[in-house]
Amino acid sequence: MQEPPVPFPVADGITAIDTLMGGRARYTAAYLLDAAEPTLVETGPGTSVEPVAAALDKLGMTSDQLAHIVLTHIHLDHAGGVGQLSSRFPSATVWVHERGAPHLADPSRLIASTARVWGEREMRELFGPTLPVDQERVRSIHDADVIRMGDRELEVLDTPGHASHHVALVDSRTGAVFTGDALGIHVPDLPVLRPATPPPEFDLERYVDSIERIRNAARSILLFAHFGPLADVAATCDLAIRRVRDWAAVVETALTETEDPEELAARLEATALADIETGAEATLDLAMLEDRLRLLSSIKMNAQGLARYWKRRLEREDRESGAGRTS
Ligand SMILES: [Zn+2]
Repeated sequence: MQEPPVPFPVADGITAIDTLMGGRARYTAAYLLDAAEPTLVETGPGTSVEPVAAALDKLGMTSDQLAHIVLTHIHLDHAGGVGQLSSRFPSATVWVHERGAPHLADPSRLIASTARVWGEREMRELFGPTLPVDQERVRSIHDADVIRMGDRELEVLDTPGHASHHVALVDSRTGAVFTGDALGIHVPDLPVLRPATPPPEFDLERYVDSIERIRNAARSILLFAHFGPLADVAATCDLAIRRVRDWAAVVETALTETEDPEELAARLEATALADIETGAEATLDLAMLEDRLRLLSSIKMNAQGLARYWKRRLEREDRESGAGRTS
């Protein structure tokens, strides 16, 4: 069996844990905050429970010590393991946006919608089983809430766009921000920053506004769920905004000619490949990297999310101009 990756420090009292999602290294991170009340940010999916529990054990966390589990959102690659992990750490309170909270206690709709996007077999292989969390242990969070961990705090920033219930978290001690999927997916080995625009909730304006909120709140580094730290906040935020606008424009233009999902995905893929920084691809195992990108941020899924966004926006504008004519 492969040796589990060693957790690595990323800031004062913050340790990154590779969740080994679906057995793959450097895909998805969780973070342990060292505090009077130790806190885990993100859990990874059901396939990550053993690697994350092993990492917590290595970091000296006993089962009754972990005080909080905080989730940026409920997509399974971030939160699918929370049911099982919260049983192993029975003292931990689970924090999630109020719109996500009901789906932790009853994940059946979340599982069904994930199966629609990924297919049943791939969902199981990547994410594993998703078990419910005891409702008594779930606390709803809202914008500007503060999660207190004794000697440090996490401030909640509403950051919709990727999903309507997405939050980012600002660490009081370091000024680092846990960005979840708000800026997209960063693949450190390439490197590339790729937007994450899945259906059904992706919203361009909210996505851009959320990145601006994160830019204003960050006093040090950005901690991506996929994967790891990025130090240059301004450049990273600029790039994330430019990329998502480029992608949205590609799909908007394509929609004037076709609604075929395969064709939309093909057009977006050409843009996405051009985003990979020149030269990087020559030195890397492209098949492995494409597999990684596909799993984290499938082009087809992103194209569907963007197409759905443009259709909803057109419908809204039609309704509004219709209302203008009759009044
Ligand atoms: Zn997500």
